Amino acid sequence: MNKSLRAFNTFGIEAFADQVIEINSVAQLQLILPKITKPFYILGGGSNILLLNNIKGTVLKISIPGIKIERTFKRAVYLSAGAGVNWHQLVLFAVENDLGGLENLSLIPGTVGASPMQNIGAYGVEIKEVFHRLEAVEIASGKLRVFRKKELAFGYRNSIFKNKLKGKYIITKVWFKLSKPPHPLRLSYGAIKTVLKDSGIDQPTIRDISNAVIKIRSEKLPDPREIGNAGSFFKNPVIDPKLFSSLHQQYPELPHYPQSDGTIKLPAGWLIEQCGWKGKRVGDTGTHVNQALVLVNYGQAKGREIHALALKIRESVRQKFKISLEMEVNIWD
Ligand SMILES: Cc1cc2nc3c(=O)[nH]c(=O)nc-3n(C[C@H](O)[C@H](O)[C@H](O)COP(=O)(O)OP(=O)(O)OC[C@H]3O[C@@H](n4cnc5c(N)ncnc54)[C@H](O)[C@@H]3O)c2cc1C
Repeated sequence: MNKSLRAFNTFGIEAFADQVIEINSVAQLQLILPKITKPFYILGGGSNILLLNNIKGTVLKISIPGIKIERTFKRAVYLSAGAGVNWHQLVLFAVENDLGGLENLSLIPGTVGASPMQNIGAYGVEIKEVFHRLEAVEIASGKLRVFRKKELAFGYRNSIFKNKLKGKYIITKVWFKLSKPPHPLRLSYGAIKTVLKDSGIDQPTIRDISNAVIKIRSEKLPDPREIGNAGSFFKNPVIDPKLFSSLHQQYPELPHYPQSDGTIKLPAGWLIEQCGWKGKRVGDTGTHVNQALVLVNYGQAKGREIHALALKIRESVRQKFKISLEMEVNIWD
């Protein structure tokens, strides 16, 4: 057990694995799969994992490269990317080529291969809106299979790969259907509108939106290179109208977002803040000073300490609001 994983996870947790093998092609993956002992771990950019222990076994770091414009139609363009491509590099490629749909998802850390796993989303857009299909290798058989959009059962920070097919496939390539100008722009998030207005932009391009999102995110979220974190630690809870109405009576200022199915989404960060956790530090872990939803590693925190803090936070939210927060980060135990 001699390979440090500190540089492979944005929490900056020190843990060790027997070995890390970098995968650069489907053929290499198919060759290696029968030879490595199971269980093993699949890693992209390590921006959505929390390591609790050392790993007795192998980590497969998916680094399959390549971005390609596959087909161009009058209104749409099909773009493919290898699972190892850095997500933000893909967004920049799309913006550079005036292909619309990814700009609101600028600066999300991680790889293309992990993006459908939890249907990444930000600033009013989720990848399900531009996702077309993906290729994945079945771990048991080594066979390459295509998954179309409807098979992925996309939901809020969710897909079939987090449920029914968890741990069964390795995603190797993803296709996106992007727009050609004139692009439908997603400006509904207040902060984007404000930044554009402050910059004197009233006819924004997709590049303007990407730049606005980069500015907002850089100011709001801690940079993992400076302070270890994995973004939002918990999902925003979605509750039924009955619980909402009793909570709303008690807390009239409760921020809330009604969903099309009648349920109500609440900001987990607000709930955590109300429990007094914002900016709290426990040893070398804590919640970020500006965003209670982001758990951080101030330097030498162990994965177990961050996990213990997360459990405490979850318990206090449960006691105060009768809501059980679900972890968004994948726990590697
Ligand atoms: C500062 C910061 C901000 C963030 N903001 C957002 C945000 O706005 N919206 C959002 O949705 N997320 C956000 N995240 C979370 C994270 O960026 C995404 O979940 C991202 O998609 C994770 O990609 P990754 O390559 O780092 O995945 P990893 O952390 O390496 O892996 C995540 C999970 O996917 C599995 N996996 C990875 N690659 C593959 C593959 N090729 N095939 C099969 N399984 C795979 C892993 O086994 C693991 O279970 C943020 C994280 C940070 C640190």
